[in-house]
Amino acid sequence: MNSEILPRYTHWINGTATEWDGEFLPVMNPATGETMSTVAKGTAEVVDTAVQAARHAFENPKWQRMTGNQRGKLLIKLALLIEQHSKTLATMETQNVGKVLWGTTAEIKDSVELLEYYAGAAATFTGETKPLPSHLGITLHQPVGVCALIVPWNYPLMLAIWKLAPALAAGNAVVLKPSELTPITAFALAELAKEAGFPDGILNIVNGVGSEVGQALLEHPKVDKVSFTGGTQTGKIVMATCAKTLKRLTLELGGKSAAIVFEDADYDAALAGTLFGIYYSAGQSCEARSRILVHKSFYDQFVADFADKAKKIVVGDPMAKGTQMGSLISLQRLEVVNGYVEQGVQEGATLVCGGKRLMEGELAKGAFYAPTLLSNVKNSMTVAQEEIFGPVAVAIPFETEEEAVAIANDSRYGLAGTVWTTNGARALRVTAALKTGLVGVNTIMTGQTGMPFGGWKESGFGRELALETLKHYTEPKSIEWYYGTKPLNPFGL
Ligand code: NAD
Repeated sequence: MNSEILPRYTHWINGTATEWDGEFLPVMNPATGETMSTVAKGTAEVVDTAVQAARHAFENPKWQRMTGNQRGKLLIKLALLIEQHSKTLATMETQNVGKVLWGTTAEIKDSVELLEYYAGAAATFTGETKPLPSHLGITLHQPVGVCALIVPWNYPLMLAIWKLAPALAAGNAVVLKPSELTPITAFALAELAKEAGFPDGILNIVNGVGSEVGQALLEHPKVDKVSFTGGTQTGKIVMATCAKTLKRLTLELGGKSAAIVFEDADYDAALAGTLFGIYYSAGQSCEARSRILVHKSFYDQFVADFADKAKKIVVGDPMAKGTQMGSLISLQRLEVVNGYVEQGVQEGATLVCGGKRLMEGELAKGAFYAPTLLSNVKNSMTVAQEEIFGPVAVAIPFETEEEAVAIANDSRYGLAGTVWTTNGARALRVTAALKTGLVGVNTIMTGQTGMPFGGWKESGFGRELALETLKHYTEPKSIEWYYGTKPLNPFGL
C-alpha cells in the first residue's frame, strides 16, 4: 500500500496536531499484517516543544485558579465524549492491537468509569487542618507540575486514561507518550479532550520510539513527574534516568502471576477462571495469571480439562463476533513467545496443547498463536520465571498450602495472584501471605475502579485506579501558622 495515502499521526502540542517533516514509522494491524497508518518518529526537539507547551499551560493563572470541581466537570465532559465515540474508538484499538472487539469495548467502558471516578475525586482531594501547640497546621496537596505519561501497547487508550485522569484531576499538565506500535487512539483522546474544554497545552502527545522521545522526556529538566507502564527492564532504565534529576516516579511493570487452585476449589469456576486469566488479551496482560498452581490430587485431570477447553478457544479475526482470542501484537513478539515454549520443552516441560503459530486461511496473514499449555513445569524453569507475555500457561503441581505459597512467591515479580478455594480461612491466610499488590479470591477480575492497582518487588511501585493515586500526582505542603500572643523568641534576643 502506498504510505502517502495512509492516515498520518504527528504530535499533538498546544491543542493541535503539529506539522512533521521528519521520519514516519509504519503502524500495523497485527491481525491482517497490513500497514494501517504511519506515525511520526519524534526527536528530543519535539519533546522540548511539548514540555514547554505543557509548562506554559500549567502555569497559566486560569488553569492554576481552576477548582477541583471545575476540573471534574471537564473530566465528565471527556467521559461523555468517549462514551459517545466508544464504537469508533474500540474499532480503532482492535485494528491496531489485534485484540477482540468485545475486549476493547469493555476497556473503553472501564475508562469512562475511571474518568467519572476521578471527576468526583477532583474536588475531594483537599488538605487537612491540624491543631498544634500555638500553631494551626494546614496541609495542601498541590499539583506536581508537568507529568510525562509513558504507556505500552497492550491497553493503549485505557492505560493512557489510567494516568491522565488522576493527573488532570489533580491539576497537572501532561505529555503523553504512546507506544510507537499503538499511537492511534491517543490522538483521538487528545481531540476529544480539546472538545471537552481542556485548555490547549494541558494535554500534549509526543510520538516516536522509547529510546529517543521517551528518554528525552525522562531527561527533560522541566518534567517534574514520570508515570511509566511497561517492561521491567525498561523500568530500570527509566528509574536510573529519573534519579539524575530526582523526578517523582511511579512504575507499573511486568508480572508472572500465579493462580493457585486448591483441592477445595469450585472445580468448574477455577477451570473457567484460569483459562480466562491467561488467554484474555492473548496473554498480553501484565496481570495475566500465567502460572497455574494445581493441587497434586487432581493435577492430571485439571491439566487435561484445561487443555481440552484451551483447544476450543475461537482464535481469529478480532473484529468478528464470536472470536474469543485475537492476534499477538506482532510477528516479532510471536517469535519471542514461541522461543519461550521451545525453551520450556528443552528444559523438561511437556507441551500439552498449542505451541505453534496458526496459519490456516486468513490467519496466515496475522500474528496468531494457539492457546498453549505446558505441564510438568518446575518453578525454577525459564517459562515459570520470565514474563512470556503471550497465550502460554504453565501448570505446576503442589501438595500443601505452604508449598503453594512458597512457589507463588518464588518470583522476582509481585503484581497479582488468584486463590481458588471455598475455604474462607484458607483464603484469608493465603491472600495475606502472597507477596503481590493484587490478589483475587475466586476471581481474576482484579483492577476495578477505586481499588489500588500496582506491584511489589520488580513489578514496580505506586498505585493506579484509586484515590491514593492522586498522592502520586501532588506534592504535599505543610503550613504551620503561629497564633500565640507573644512573638516566638527562643534565643531571647
Ligand atoms: P516497553 O517497556 O518496551 O515500552 C513501554 C513504553 O516505554 C513504550 O511507550 C516505549 O516506547 C517506552 N520506552 C521504551 N524504552 C524507553 C526508554 N529508554 N525511555 C523511556 N521510554 C521508553 O513495554 P511494552 O513492550 O510496550 O509493554 C509490555 C510490558 O508492559 C510488559 O512487560 C507488561 O507486563 C508491562 N505492562 C505492565 C502493566 C502494569 O500495570 N503493571 C500494564 C501493562 C503492561
